[in-house]
Amino acid sequence: MTATQRDVSAEQARSVAEAARETEWRKPSFGKQLFLGRLRMDLIDPWPTPKVSEDAEQFLTKLGEFGAAHVDGEQIERDARIPDEVFHGLADLGCFGMKIDKKYGGLGLSNLDYCRALTLIGSSSPSIGALLSAHQSIGVPQPLKLFGTDEQKQKFLPRLAAGEVSAFLLTEPDVGSDPARMSCTATPVEGGYRINGVKLWATNGSVSTLLVVMALVPRSDGHRGGITAFVVEGTAEGVTVERRNKFLGLRGLENSVTRFHDVFVPKENVIGGEGQGLKIALTTLNTGRLSLPAMCVAASKWCLSIARGWSSHRVQWGRRVGEHEAVATKIGYIAATAYGMESMLQLCCMLADDNSNDIRIEAALVKLFGSEKAWTIADELIQIRGGRGYETAESLAARGEKALSAEQLLRDLRINRIFEGSTEIMHLFIAREAVDQHLSVAGDIIDPRAGAGKKARALVRAAGFYARWLPTLFVGRGSFGGYRGYGSLAQHLRWAERASRRLARHTFRGMARWQGRLEHRQAFLGRIVDIGAELFAIAATCSRANASGRAEERELADLFSRQARQRAIVLEHQLWNNTDAADVAVAKNVLSGRYVFQEEGVLPPPDEGEWVATWQPGPSTEPNLLRRLK
Ligand SMILES: Cc1cc2nc3c(=O)[nH]c(=O)nc-3n(C[C@H](O)[C@H](O)[C@H](O)COP(=O)(O)OP(=O)(O)OC[C@H]3O[C@@H](n4cnc5c(N)ncnc54)[C@H](O)[C@@H]3O)c2cc1C
Repeated sequence: MTATQRDVSAEQARSVAEAARETEWRKPSFGKQLFLGRLRMDLIDPWPTPKVSEDAEQFLTKLGEFGAAHVDGEQIERDARIPDEVFHGLADLGCFGMKIDKKYGGLGLSNLDYCRALTLIGSSSPSIGALLSAHQSIGVPQPLKLFGTDEQKQKFLPRLAAGEVSAFLLTEPDVGSDPARMSCTATPVEGGYRINGVKLWATNGSVSTLLVVMALVPRSDGHRGGITAFVVEGTAEGVTVERRNKFLGLRGLENSVTRFHDVFVPKENVIGGEGQGLKIALTTLNTGRLSLPAMCVAASKWCLSIARGWSSHRVQWGRRVGEHEAVATKIGYIAATAYGMESMLQLCCMLADDNSNDIRIEAALVKLFGSEKAWTIADELIQIRGGRGYETAESLAARGEKALSAEQLLRDLRINRIFEGSTEIMHLFIAREAVDQHLSVAGDIIDPRAGAGKKARALVRAAGFYARWLPTLFVGRGSFGGYRGYGSLAQHLRWAERASRRLARHTFRGMARWQGRLEHRQAFLGRIVDIGAELFAIAATCSRANASGRAEERELADLFSRQARQRAIVLEHQLWNNTDAADVAVAKNVLSGRYVFQEEGVLPPPDEGEWVATWQPGPSTEPNLLRRLK
């Protein structure tokens, strides 16, 4: 361990994550009810009516025109750079203030219109989608909108709405999924704080003039301390962009390593109070998470369009390739999943816009589902395109063919399964919310720190709750031919209703079996969450298709639901029939070096370099790579 690494136990890591959780459920939650075995269609049906805004429609039209005329996705890929003119064009349209209130110079778009905008512009270049989403959803605008003081809003939001770019800096070399290891500090001084530390992988970090920086305030007299969110000027003395990072995809991303050396931040720039940083980040992400699936929806629509064009044109073995069953099943998957994913996203956006429901579980489910499924959609498109799927757009164009960047799309999409909560972390996050009701009634029974009195009270509470709840898991609307208003889609909702009760029973069985150790059964919990995602997707898709009154939508919803049911059935089987224990045993042996023999026969990977680079505090010795837009 070095000076820049902190020794943090699993218990400490968990308690930091737990402290950042929103504990209250003030509004109804479809997701929470679903995991308790209740398919509350009344919360999502009738399908919400989108609020139509003339201004938003005009903006979307202009944005589409701008994307088509001025954004050259291939050039961004080739130059690994979004041109200055594109930044300015986006700023002129108001893209950097899409969700900022009109009174601060923004467009004040709804969540739905914001995500439509990201889907639209993200289809011209995913790097632009990522730029705008990181700026708006996790950068300065959203945390200030939710937690900022009036003064902060007045000071910063107009600058952002006018086109200044912002970034969100949480990750450090030693902090990825585990913020408890944070070593960036904010030490209280006269009038404010001094920030010291190095932040890794900040999207937009190399073009941003306003940053949200997460740093640890030490506890002291008058300071409760803890991880705290600050607004920091990107041009402040002591801030140095030391690197611009390069990745598998999203080559236009302006992603930085940023060093802070004795950077003074006035106390007025604390967002929400000391120690509130992670809570702010998590709450911001409740709706902020929707922008990532918006880009996944863009990718799925693009893939569908290419799959259609190519498969109806390309002829092999006397048939259009789309007519061969092996290809047709892939096209069916792409079409149905694109519809399902968009339904989930639209529903979450409109529920957030209505402000009627708590969507923290649903938004996390759509992030998880969208990022995983968009990846498989792009992979299937590449297969459908054959060799051309593997060829770059530039190479295709040089041979006189359509410059279709399927391979780039796959590369661009891969990160969605890692950032804004990796799939593994999303599983844990959602699973925690899914078992919240159980923990709140029975948590003390399995908590080794709870005294005898607490345990006794919990036993009484749990007996009451389970005596009422368990019987509800055996019969329900899905058992008696319900959901008649959905016509042919009713069968899927009946199935989903029964499956949600089974899901709750499986969860209960897991809790009874493993008790406090359930949290370590990550594969089990991951499957529980994935089944929940499929059920939510079926409910959203059927609700939307039923409301549409269009036969075409019902067809897609029907196929999507059939496919989702198949996936959920496999997952349910695997809950209790799997190789998890054997996998874990072998993984343990892999880590201990037992199977090193299996690595023989290839050249060994290079030995130099660290697994995790260490950094030393102090002033930067690197040139500042902050890119000033001209
Ligand atoms: C292109 C790009 C853009 C990014 N943009 C930003 C940004 O704008 N701002 C920012 O702050 N960060 C950003 N990040 C960082 C990103 O959020 C992290 O990469 C992500 O949180 C995962 O952290 P990590 O890479 O350190 O992986 P690690 O935390 O080291 O995880 C490694 C693996 O272990 C798994 N894992 C970790 N903990 C657990 C656990 N408890 N249980 C089960 N599995 C676990 C992970 O899922 C992963 O598979 C970006 C990263 C990239 C690559």
